[in-house]
Amino acid sequence: MSKDYSEILTHLGEIRENYFNSISPPVIQSSNFQFDSIQQFREFILHESKEHVYTRGNNPTVDILRKKLAALENTEDALVTSSGAAAISCTLSAFLSQGDHVVCVEKPYSWTYKLLTELLSRFGVTYTFVDGTDNQQIEAAIQPNTKLLYLESPNSLTFECQDLTFCAKLSKKYKLISIIDNSHASPVFQNPAEYGIDIVIHSGTKYINGHSDVVVGVICGSKDHIQRIFQGPFMTFGTNISPHDAWLVLRGLRTLPLRIQQSDATAHKIVEYLIDHPKVKKVLFPLHPSFPQYNLAKKQMTGCGGLFTVELKAETKEQVYNFVNGLEKFLLAVSWGGHESLMIPSLVFHDMPERPDSPIPWTIIRFYAGLESPDYLIADLKQALDQI
Ligand SMILES: *Cc1c(COP(=O)(O)O)cnc(C)c1O
Repeated sequence: MSKDYSEILTHLGEIRENYFNSISPPVIQSSNFQFDSIQQFREFILHESKEHVYTRGNNPTVDILRKKLAALENTEDALVTSSGAAAISCTLSAFLSQGDHVVCVEKPYSWTYKLLTELLSRFGVTYTFVDGTDNQQIEAAIQPNTKLLYLESPNSLTFECQDLTFCAKLSKKYKLISIIDNSHASPVFQNPAEYGIDIVIHSGTKYINGHSDVVVGVICGSKDHIQRIFQGPFMTFGTNISPHDAWLVLRGLRTLPLRIQQSDATAHKIVEYLIDHPKVKKVLFPLHPSFPQYNLAKKQMTGCGGLFTVELKAETKEQVYNFVNGLEKFLLAVSWGGHESLMIPSLVFHDMPERPDSPIPWTIIRFYAGLESPDYLIADLKQALDQI
């Protein structure tokens, strides 16, 4: 972490005299807002994304959050959506038309993959998935009709990174809109707009809210880009967050730097413990020197967060079952970025009825270190590894 977030997290966007000088902003639980005059009615309609007209568009509680998130990502504006998936689908559908092509990193978040391959493809949008670790492959995939470059750096399972400086320059050269899913690093550890990436998306469900109680998405970008998304899919699909959820996210956001640094420090310690363990074949963690793109990761991110992926030295599925069942402090659940430590064994996606086995080996488990102490989590891993 290299920046001072004090002003943004404590004061920015909070006009306390508007609400009885309360320290915590109120939940403005109102669907609509009254105008003083026809003149003002007109003006507000013309600037609906900034003013308070109707809560599907903007709302005072949500607006505080928008201002803070834009400042955290160092962009002109931001939108908050009902989920990370909504942030991704609104952004892509705002800029794509029939006949357009997208260059996207391979193995993106599962619903991003579905958006391209199953939904936008029905409307005549084509796509090429590329190995995002290979700059030449990204450039070679660009076609005359390519409109967007979609990045996810690092991704949230195997942590492949893209060279953001290169991708931003490439996008300028070919007049593409560059978009990144920055959920893994959060605005605390990586700010892609500072490298020239146009639009930065988050699943705010993860670190930004951070308490495993709200599903929320974030879109950060220039005024023009945000306006286009707002006037298009955001308002048309109706993907706003509720004022109450926005209030919870504001509350979560206050401690974002503290939380993510704690997860990060804990994950570093756990990775050090696991990396030489005789029952562990491999550990993936972008800021460990053993990571293939360690230098790039270190250049672009000031920290890493709590995600790491472990490959067990297991000969049988039984051993993986024993290990996973032996863990008492890591909960078996999707998602990450909350207070609680989690795991997703690839084994979940093997031997499923009527589904092909996952291409990811069953020896692999994705972990998230939450806010518990490193010693507490390492003790749990130790006793479970002994059961393999
Ligand atoms: C969770 C996640 C999403 C989707 O966000 P939701 O808030 O669950 O809709 C998108 N990208 C990444 C990398 C994620 O981990």
